[in-house]
Amino acid sequence: MDLLNTLVEKGLRRELPTREEALAVLATTDEELLDVVAAAGKVRRQWFGRRVKLNYLVNLKSGLCPEDCSYCSQRLGSKAGILKYTWLKADEASKAAAAGVAGGAKRVCLVASGRGPTDKDVDRVTKTIEAIKENNEGVEVCACLGLLTDGQAERLKAAGADAYNHNLNTSEATYGNITTTHTYADRVETVQQAQAAGLSACSGLIAGMGESDEDLVDVVFSLRALDPDSVPVNFLIPFEGTPLAKEWHLTPQKALRILAMVRFVCPDVEVRLAGGREVHLRTMQPLALHLVNSIFLGDYLTSEGQAGQADLEMIADAGFEVEGTDTTTLPEHRSTGVCGSAGGCGSEGASAGGCHDDAPAAEEASDVPAVPGARQDLVTVRRRGAGTELAPNA
Ligand code: SF4
Repeated sequence: MDLLNTLVEKGLRRELPTREEALAVLATTDEELLDVVAAAGKVRRQWFGRRVKLNYLVNLKSGLCPEDCSYCSQRLGSKAGILKYTWLKADEASKAAAAGVAGGAKRVCLVASGRGPTDKDVDRVTKTIEAIKENNEGVEVCACLGLLTDGQAERLKAAGADAYNHNLNTSEATYGNITTTHTYADRVETVQQAQAAGLSACSGLIAGMGESDEDLVDVVFSLRALDPDSVPVNFLIPFEGTPLAKEWHLTPQKALRILAMVRFVCPDVEVRLAGGREVHLRTMQPLALHLVNSIFLGDYLTSEGQAGQADLEMIADAGFEVEGTDTTTLPEHRSTGVCGSAGGCGSEGASAGGCHDDAPAAEEASDVPAVPGARQDLVTVRRRGAGTELAPNA
């Protein structure tokens, strides 16, 4: 297939595909799916070998957000039956993080619901970062606290944070349909503030919110222009009690095509399979490892993932290996250290789940799948781990 040969050649050279080529990947048929996965897999292996980086989420503050992101179980007015709690103490968060590290996680993602942190919140997170770094040698810490104001990224960096996550989520054209309490431009600005402070930027998307293929290509091209080091790809889990509760648009095949498209557009970037992988990829999850080089271990912010042990077995069974702390995730040309950001996404040579947004899950299933093959019966709200008395599923 000429399209795939062209895309492999471009990916190996870190060249940007055209928009038409990216759209053509999304338009491939189910019969062509294995060829698409094999082609994108060649690009993945060139830059990341068979390594899979594990990331572990700690929800520092859950629910009760004043913002109205339609996909989010923690949004203003959400009726989703999720856990709600205010800031975990530094030692509680450190203990939760340690469980993920013990399970093989190389990065801990500290997430808090809300529009953005106050300076007092940054103080709290600073203490938490210090506690985690002290107790877990070599661990990377990513903060995901919402929109930043001046000086906050610098303070997080000084406290030892390695990265900051803030997702673009969807295309600029459709952003206003998903959220009204802040703008796409606000989100771009926060990612740029994090980069300017020397933090490794992690910024991604949520697929399956009713967007078109053009929207998906738009947001992925925007991400590439923004040049984050990691790109989490979430698949919407339509929570009952949120406006997107009935949006079931994804099949395993569609999810794989989306991941392949992201890999071709961002060949040498950490592409992270994030929230919704169990629900939408189901038994096809191992195929996705040929496309992404990073996943979350165990549970998500407000929904349960598959057991951490099942993640590890899946990686081993598929012929991949968990990336250790002694290995630099990014290829040398974009790496300046543990997760540095001086390289570039693609041949321009310009300079990773999202956390805040990968939480959606349903309390109960809605009635009719919007797309044949889309299933809606595999979501459980998280009742264990951080903020509970129960052990986490790391
Ligand atoms: S995504 Fe973040 S800002 Fe938006 S509603 Fe959820 S917690 Fe609030």
